Order: sequence, then structure tokens, then C-alpha cells
Amino acid sequence: MQHKTRQNETAPARQDLSGATQSPVSDTRPVLRFAPSPNGYLHLGHAYSALLNHRLAQEMGGRFLLRIEDIDTQRARPEYEAAVYEDLAWLGLSWEEPVMRQSERFAVYELALERLAARGLIYPCYCTRGEIAERVAQRPGWPCDPDGQPLYPGTCRNLSAEDQAQWRALGRYAARRIDMAFANTCIDGQIGWREFYDGAESRELYAESGLWGDAIVGRKDVPTSYHLAVVIDDAAQGVTDIVRGQDLFNATSLHRLLQVLLDLPEPHYHHHRLLTDDDGRKLSKSIKSMSLRQLRAEGVTPSDIKRQLGLL
Ligand code: GLU
Ligand code: ZN
Repeated sequence: MQHKTRQNETAPARQDLSGATQSPVSDTRPVLRFAPSPNGYLHLGHAYSALLNHRLAQEMGGRFLLRIEDIDTQRARPEYEAAVYEDLAWLGLSWEEPVMRQSERFAVYELALERLAARGLIYPCYCTRGEIAERVAQRPGWPCDPDGQPLYPGTCRNLSAEDQAQWRALGRYAARRIDMAFANTCIDGQIGWREFYDGAESRELYAESGLWGDAIVGRKDVPTSYHLAVVIDDAAQGVTDIVRGQDLFNATSLHRLLQVLLDLPEPHYHHHRLLTDDDGRKLSKSIKSMSLRQLRAEGVTPSDIKRQLGLL
């Protein structure tokens, strides 16, 4: 059995990875989206991102979509998803129906993984997190990816079919990693994107996908990762302008690479400022007092929130 073919297959048409919600070709309006993960209640940072997307969509004469990023079947909960709708409606936002839910799209992600695998762009990795940590601990100064995870040391990059069968016999599941060095050889020239700024000219930026090393594109528990699902779904929903937090700025390098490899359209990007608490720390779902429902319970109004966020 051949582990990798590394031949350029004729890429199936783009529509293969699209969803039913894609607008007709004749509709040239910009498309923006808010894509929360229902792993907790929305906080002020989410409100900022959602309100900003909604406002820009209105200003641009565009569409505003919502996408529920619930691939984390352990952490995503129906009550959090219900709270997303309730909190956004309370803020005065409306969005197009039907709402896309990533948990319903695993077959589409699997198809993308198969396409990448057919070109030798991904490989199965049987390592546990602990094993990777142990291996890199012996190499002081080993680099981390932008999420703070050690870059994958490549242990499984060239496993034979026999090696793989052995791991499976031991009951191990495989994640799927991109072969970053090989992927970069499949790209013509430099990948980049157009980044829009507040009150300044947009600029063409270069992607630095190497920051991520052999990133996981298919997890052990689900046939996708955040990075893969987001590029497939932004394309499927026809998103033209991706407006999201600065914390995802580096992810865009990997997203652009995946878009090129999967022959998906190139969106524009705007990475907005992140809200911080009084101590200058990034807001997170764990700071309960900041959740929109908590604020609402304390009598804060949507106008108060918009004013505080500078979006009134
Ligand atoms: N689901 C991601 C989050 O909650 C956002 C994804 C994106 O905007 O690309 O942080
Ligand atoms: Zn491995």
C-alpha cells in the first residue's frame, strides 16, 4: 500500500465543498459573518465582533450570516447555542436563516481531508499530546505555534503502512496533519491576503503558514479542526469579508494556505481590536461577570453596551 502519492490530482470542482446556503452567482453583495463557538455564554468581546460585522454588512449593502462553530462535541452545549440566538437578538441583531452548524457538516470536512490526502498533503499522526511534549522537552528552545503548542516534531511524517497498522492494532486513533514542507512546494509564489484597518489604508500581507508547522487539520475525535472547518464554511457561505478578533490574525496565514490548496476563493480580512478587562487581560468566557446575560440581568441595556463599545 502506498502511503503517499504526491501526484497532483485534478482538483474536483469548488462546488464539491460548498453548502446549500451559498447565494446565487448573480448576488454580488458582500457577505459577512459572526461565527461563535457555543462553548460558553457570549461576552462583551463577542458582542463587539457581532455588532461590528452586522454594522459593516449594513454599511456595505451586504448580508450578515451566523455560523455555529460546534465541532467540539465535548464542550459545545445546546443551551449555549440557544443563548447565542437569544443574546444576539437582545442586542438587536438579525441574521439570515438557516444558520449553518458545523456539527452537521462532518461529511463535507471528510471530503476535503480525502482531497488533501489524495495529493499527499496530509498524513496520519498517532502521537498523544503527552508524547509530543516529552519529545520536545528534550530539545530546549523548541518553537511553539501561535496557540502556544509545541510545533510537531514530525515523528509520524513518514510512517509506513505497517507502522500505521501497528498503531491501529494498539487501539490508537490518528489525527491528520498537514505536511507543511510539502504543501509549500505545491504553491506557486507567495500567498497573501488583503487586510483592512481602522482608519488606515488596506494592505497586502504575506502569509506565514510555517508558523504552524505540521498543524492538525483533522482531529482524532472529529474529521476536521477549527482551521479546516472555518475555511470550508466561509467558502460554502460565500463569505467575502472576514471580520474577527486580532487573536486570530496568525491563523489567517494557515487559512490562506488551506484556501489555496483546496482551490477556495480568497476573502478580505479585518482583524479587530480585542477588548480587555480593567487589568488589561483579554476577555474570555470564563470571566462570568462579563457575560451578556449577566449584564442584562444587572439592568444594562443594548444601548449601554453599544455606547461602551464605541458602536453607537
Ligand atoms: N469560532 C471562533 C471563535 O469563537 C471564531 C472563528 C472565526 O471568526 O474565524 O473564536
Ligand atoms: Zn505523530
